[in-house]
Amino acid sequence: MERSVAQRIQQIRDEIGRIRSAFAEVEYISSGTLHTRMKVCGKSGCRCAQDPQARHGPYYEWGHMVEGKLVRRVLTPQQAELLQHAIDNHRHAKRLLRAWEEQTERLIELQAPRQP
Ligand SMILES: [Zn+2]
Repeated sequence: MERSVAQRIQQIRDEIGRIRSAFAEVEYISSGTLHTRMKVCGKSGCRCAQDPQARHGPYYEWGHMVEGKLVRRVLTPQQAELLQHAIDNHRHAKRLLRAWEEQTERLIELQAPRQP
């Protein structure tokens, strides 16, 4: 029984180690959402007014919360590509954090069980 608890604790430590290694590989991280838009310019005679295929763009806009307020920022295509990578990483990091929390809870239960 004792040995089994020790094994379970080691398994959890190994899992936490894998989570920490996954974090170590993350460099770019951003919250928020990336929007891609096609625009109508409003110039008379421009085809974009009639033809959806002739709309201008794509234009990239990043929306994210700063101190409770939504901040929007226009990005270049290259910035948008990097930002999308950072947003994907953020999602991945949140999943890792949740997994880390769950493993920590199990570890606490095993290391310091409630006395009967
Ligand atoms: Zn136009």
